[in-house]
Amino acid sequence: AKLMPGKNVYQYFSQEMNQRVSERLRLEQDLRSALDRGEFRLFYQPKVDLVSGEMHSMEALIRWAHPESGLVSPVRFIPIAEETGLIIPIGQWVLEEACRQNRAWQDAGFPPLRVAVNLSATQFAQPDIVDSIVAVLEKTGLDPEFLELEITESMLMEDVEDAIRILRELKGLGLSLAIDDFGTGYSSLSYLKRFPVDCIKIDQSFIAELLKNSEDAAITSAIIALAGSLNLNVTAEGVETLEHVDFLRRRGCHEIQGYYFSRPLPPEDFTRLLREGRNLYNFKSAS
Ligand code: C2E
Ligand code: MG
Ligand code: MG
Ligand code: MG
Repeated sequence: AKLMPGKNVYQYFSQEMNQRVSERLRLEQDLRSALDRGEFRLFYQPKVDLVSGEMHSMEALIRWAHPESGLVSPVRFIPIAEETGLIIPIGQWVLEEACRQNRAWQDAGFPPLRVAVNLSATQFAQPDIVDSIVAVLEKTGLDPEFLELEITESMLMEDVEDAIRILRELKGLGLSLAIDDFGTGYSSLSYLKRFPVDCIKIDQSFIAELLKNSEDAAITSAIIALAGSLNLNVTAEGVETLEHVDFLRRRGCHEIQGYYFSRPLPPEDFTRLLREGRNLYNFKSAS
């Protein structure tokens, strides 16, 4: 198409923008009723210990089963949920459902695993965040040692002193804390030792090009070394190939998560995986 300045170009753009705005409005409208209609699902993805090959935990990831659009990715609706405040009831549902499901797997006799739940910035900033987590643990009967919360660097850097206070309270409950998407935010390394967290998760953007991009390889190695010297566990996410696994294992990464082992699975499929036992990989025979 010829791009001529003037009326037609303006109309072309405004038409496309209108379409985008109305699509987003529709999504926002639908999101308001999605909780009441029971349209959210949690999928679960194993995290695998790189020494034993065993799964000790899994991450709960939300999906929206939209009546017309099918499964909607959280990348599309979490930002809208954040802006509209809907993230509070949705986040509460996620916490409760993840704890309930994890407790149900334990009651069914499977070896106890930790379930990791992503917290959003708005949720973390709620004055009653600690109380609401206590309430969910009591309601579902899940032992806090089997719950892990994933928060991002930017959530912690908003108000560092306040964040440290909340993290301490959460740790006091007996649960675990992880910093998600590590390396993409602008957290100061000097703060890292002050945050009472158990684990850092290397962002998948560094893993994707690990074998092709020497800078990504250097950053990944540096994060693993940093975690080691601060006595933190380190998980790599977005692990897709055996080459990724070998690289990470040689550098001493503790845990990996990614399509190489399993995509995030609906609860029925995850139950099937649990039936096969928690040993997902034999590293000795692989190398
Ligand atoms: P995240 O917490 O960093 O989750 C990891 C994302 O990487 C997930 O995307 C997962 O499906 C994807 N992933 C896992 N392994 C691989 C792999 O090997 N290759 C690739 N390319 N991707 C992989 P997902 O499920 O689409 O979630 C995207 C983001 O949405 C999450 O990133 C998290 O920030 C947010 N999110 C998901 N569930 C929730 C939730 O319940 N609450 C909140 N507040 N945010 C959530
Ligand atoms: Mg996460
Ligand atoms: Mg992440
Ligand atoms: Mg992410």
